[in-house]
Amino acid sequence: MEMRKETCQFKTEVQQLLNLIINSLYSNRDIFLRELISNASDAIDKLRFRSEMEPDILGADTEFKIKIIPDKEKNTIEVSDNGVGMTYEEVMENIGTIAKSGTGAFLEAIENAKKKETLMPELIGQFGVGFYSSFIVAEKVTLLTRSPDSEKGVKWESSGDGAYSIEEIEKSDRGTRIILELKTPEEGENDFTDEWVIKSIVKKHSDYVRYPVVMDVDKEEPIPENEQIMDQDNKPVATTRKVRTEETLNSMKAIWARNKKDVTEEEYHEFYKHLSHDWNDPLTYLHMKLEGAVEYSMLLYIPSKMPFDMFSNERDKHGIQLFCKRVFIMENCKELIPDYLRFVKGVVDAPDLNLNISREILQQDRLVRNIKKNLVKKVLELIKNLDEEKFTSFYQEFGRILKEGVYSDWENRDKIAELLRYYTTKSQEKRISLKQYIENMKPDQKEIYYITGDSLSALANSPHLEQLKEQDIEVLLMVDPVDELVVQTLTEFEKKPLKSAEKGDLSIDKVDENKKDAYTDLFAYIKAELEDKVKEVKPSSRLKESVACLSGEEYDMSSYMTKLLEASGQTMPPSKRVLELNVDHPVLTKMKQLHENGGQNEKLKGYSNLLYNMAVISEGGKPEDPAGFSKMVGDLFSEALK
Ligand code: ADP
Repeated sequence: MEMRKETCQFKTEVQQLLNLIINSLYSNRDIFLRELISNASDAIDKLRFRSEMEPDILGADTEFKIKIIPDKEKNTIEVSDNGVGMTYEEVMENIGTIAKSGTGAFLEAIENAKKKETLMPELIGQFGVGFYSSFIVAEKVTLLTRSPDSEKGVKWESSGDGAYSIEEIEKSDRGTRIILELKTPEEGENDFTDEWVIKSIVKKHSDYVRYPVVMDVDKEEPIPENEQIMDQDNKPVATTRKVRTEETLNSMKAIWARNKKDVTEEEYHEFYKHLSHDWNDPLTYLHMKLEGAVEYSMLLYIPSKMPFDMFSNERDKHGIQLFCKRVFIMENCKELIPDYLRFVKGVVDAPDLNLNISREILQQDRLVRNIKKNLVKKVLELIKNLDEEKFTSFYQEFGRILKEGVYSDWENRDKIAELLRYYTTKSQEKRISLKQYIENMKPDQKEIYYITGDSLSALANSPHLEQLKEQDIEVLLMVDPVDELVVQTLTEFEKKPLKSAEKGDLSIDKVDENKKDAYTDLFAYIKAELEDKVKEVKPSSRLKESVACLSGEEYDMSSYMTKLLEASGQTMPPSKRVLELNVDHPVLTKMKQLHENGGQNEKLKGYSNLLYNMAVISEGGKPEDPAGFSKMVGDLFSEALK
């Protein structure tokens, strides 16, 4: 049979990433072993999961393990597993390309970090380099693998310098072997063929791996008397002999099954890193054992940094692994945790769970629903009780995701609302809670004012807020697209209604009725001029310095929402806004005179359009006819300079 074979070039971004890993992680090189062991463990998980449905898949090879084989003479180390392996196509897909979503974002972050000189390992930790970390310690990496779905094995080989080769081979056993031809260690550096070095790395970083990590070691064992060889004096030549035996290096102990007081912080952190493939310590964690009528334990972590693929389309990726009596059942168990807490990582162990459970049934399961409910409650409490520094850091990383809960989890909406934080017209560098906002409210203020948009500075200077500022009323500045959905569902907080500063009437000062009447004619004229753009022209209670702004009626879409929908490619039915004009502004007084004197209609027409365009620009929009707009401003300019 024909065997496939080809040589390929690494994609540019892969080579870039490789160089980066090799250069910046050199001082952390021990962890390559953890990464390979974690991959091996994942591969066994996948096979085990499949074997639930296809028991024949395992064949005779049912004793799962991960084996480390150092070779001092050849200066190599091998990590092998009898997990799910990979087909030719899977190797092509997974190794040598970066299938991972978020790679672009990652490389961009690296570029930025270079400018700022932030710590690389931290960044890389957020991304998780996995298999590629082999190249930190190896000159050449060979991967041999066979999937149970394939008759043939695959060999992948590379020196990490631009190219890799891939070919079909014969491989009788299922699973993956990864062989690293090591760089020669420098003085004082770890020799990864040394048994003790390997043992201590496994103990430190991979102790919790749930399959045995084994290595053949030489042991002295006593020679049974009847096998002893005697010398002339009838004394045994030797009483012990060296034997090669397979030793398990990790304890495989389930950390969540232990008592809290017996687990050190460092152990909790190491377990997190194993679980999450994150290199950074978690921000915080929660370990809970429930005993009684319903029994289960959970160990949950909140990462300190957002992983790079969090916002990718891998919506299905959730961080909870489900166990039953310490036996792994499934990863990404989204039945146990709502979408808006998908950043939480950890394990849930439920001894009473029905083992033959499928995902569909899982959703209906009362125990599962019960656990989910409690888990949400505990996580929200955990977040609420973070100290200020940690909370700020949490909110910076995951606030955007958490907010989704306001509109997706009705039951906990109020609790989530308590966790919201916003910049305001008064808060400067700090975000405040809605509770704090209410404490700051003016004695006669009834509503919580907010405005949405895409930039803090544009919002802070928005003409819509002029009157509010004049009256020293604070306004929440919402700059996250998600906030549009938040304010649609969260209509009030502690009985105070949330109110958009750009929509409807503000319950602050009303416009003087006499003045209003005086402008009726002019406004009717302007409205007629702008018939196809605005639905109403009215005196504004919002403006102070500016002459014009656009507003919506109470239930209209905000300008930011319209912009977001348009950006997402949705065609919007043209919606007319309300043009609000500042009747205290000299421009309007002049226009009124011009209008009363009749004539000069050409000018008035132009000015009406100018007012409209100024309102559009002040909220970050573009005039419909930029050139015409510019010309008109130029004309006015030269007139003023006369
Ligand atoms: P990650 O593990 O973070 O997805 P890696 O670069 O370490 O990233 O691995 C890429 C992919 O290669 C894995 O998602 C997995 O599909 C596959 N892979 C890696 N190691 C193994 C292994 N030992 N057995 C089977 N598949 C593996």
